[in-house]
Amino acid sequence: MTPESFKNRPWATRGSNHAMIDSRRDGEPASTGSRFIGPGKVLAHWDRLTQIHAHGGCVPICVEVYPTGMCMHRCSHCSSRPRRDQQGLQHLDSGRLKMFLAGFAKAGGKAVLWSGGGEPTCYRCPRTGETLRDLLLFTRRTGLLQGLYTNGEALDEALTDTALDACAFVRFSLDAFCAATYRRVHGVAGFESVISRLLECLRRKRAGRAQTTVGVSFVITPRNARDLVLFDDWVSGVQPDYVYFRPEDPVAGKQTTPKRSQIKLHEACARLAANHRATAVIVAHEKFRSLASARIPGRSSCYVGLLMPTLAEDGRLFTCCHTVGNDRHLIGDISNVDPTDLFKKARVLKADELDECPVNCRGEVINADVVGALQLIDNPHASFL
Ligand code: SF4
Ligand code: SF4
Repeated sequence: MTPESFKNRPWATRGSNHAMIDSRRDGEPASTGSRFIGPGKVLAHWDRLTQIHAHGGCVPICVEVYPTGMCMHRCSHCSSRPRRDQQGLQHLDSGRLKMFLAGFAKAGGKAVLWSGGGEPTCYRCPRTGETLRDLLLFTRRTGLLQGLYTNGEALDEALTDTALDACAFVRFSLDAFCAATYRRVHGVAGFESVISRLLECLRRKRAGRAQTTVGVSFVITPRNARDLVLFDDWVSGVQPDYVYFRPEDPVAGKQTTPKRSQIKLHEACARLAANHRATAVIVAHEKFRSLASARIPGRSSCYVGLLMPTLAEDGRLFTCCHTVGNDRHLIGDISNVDPTDLFKKARVLKADELDECPVNCRGEVINADVVGALQLIDNPHASFL
C-alpha cells in the first residue's frame, strides 16, 4: 500500500467504524469545504503512519500552540475558561517557544496551529515583548505551515498583513450574525469592528495580496440559533471562503445543551448547508451526532498525541486540545528539552486512559483514519485489488 493509493480518497474508509467530522448520510449534501475541514487528511502523511506502525511513534505533523491564556472576550461556550480562571494568566516565553518551533521544523514537523487557550492575537511575551506577529514571522522562516484561530478583535493592519502572508488559513470565531447575539455569546460588544476586520482580510486577499483561506466558525447553541435566519443575507454580503458550524464542547465533561436541542440545532445547520451553495458550509455532523447519542464511544486507542499534540501557554505539551491541563495526558515540558526527545515521550493511549475524554472529541476522525490505515499496512491481501 502506498500513499498514492490512499490519499485523497477519504471515502475509502466508509463502511468501517468511521466517525467522519463531515460524514454524510442520505439527504446530506457534500460540502465543497471538506478540503478545509474533513476526514482523511492524516492519510496524506503515509510516512508518519508507517513510522507509527514500525516504531510506535513519530514526529508530529502539526502542533497546536496556545501562546497565551489571555482573552478579552468571555464566551459562554469557552471550554478553556475554567482552566484559565483556575491557573491565572500565563504566556509562553518567546525564546523557548522559538527554540521549540525551530527544533520541530528541523525534526520534520509540518505545521503550527495558533489557537487557545486564550486569544493568540493578545500574545506579548512578558520577557522580550515579542508579539504574535513576531512569532508568525519567525515561524514562516522555519518553513512550517501556519494556521490561525482568532476572535478577530485585535487583528490590526500590521497583524492582518503578516497573518495573510504567513498563514495558510485564518479562521474567525464569530458565533453570531448580528451585534445583539454577538454581545450575548461573546460577552462583549464589538461585532461591527470584528466584521470590518474580517472584510478587510477578505478584501486584501481578493485584491491578490494573499492566497490565505479566510473562514468563519460558528459554535451553535440555543443562545445564538436564531441568527441562522440571518445567514443567507450575511454570507452573501461577506462571502468568506467557508463557514463552519459545530456544537459546543462539553465544559468539564458536562453538556450544557440538552440532547433534544442538540438534535434540532444539528437539523437546522444541515438544512442550511443543503440550501446554500455559493459559500462552502461545513457542518460537523459527527460531532453533533455524538453529543445527541446516548452511546459513549468505545475508544480502544488514541494516536493524537503522536500526530497533533497541544502546547499550552504554561509550556507543557499535552495529548490534545481537550486534555490540556490534565496531568494524565501530559507529554512533557518544552523547557530545556530538545523537541525530538519530547516527542519520543508521546505514545499511543489505551482505552483505560481515555475514560475522561469528551464524547465529541476531534481526535475521533484522526484515530479512525489511523486505525484503518494501520490495518491496511498489516493486511496481507492489500495487493489483491
Ligand atoms: S474568544 Fe475563544 S478563548 Fe476567548 S472567551 Fe471566546 S472561546 Fe474563549
Ligand atoms: S480520545 Fe480525544 S480527547 Fe481523548 S486524548 Fe484522544 S484526542 Fe484527546
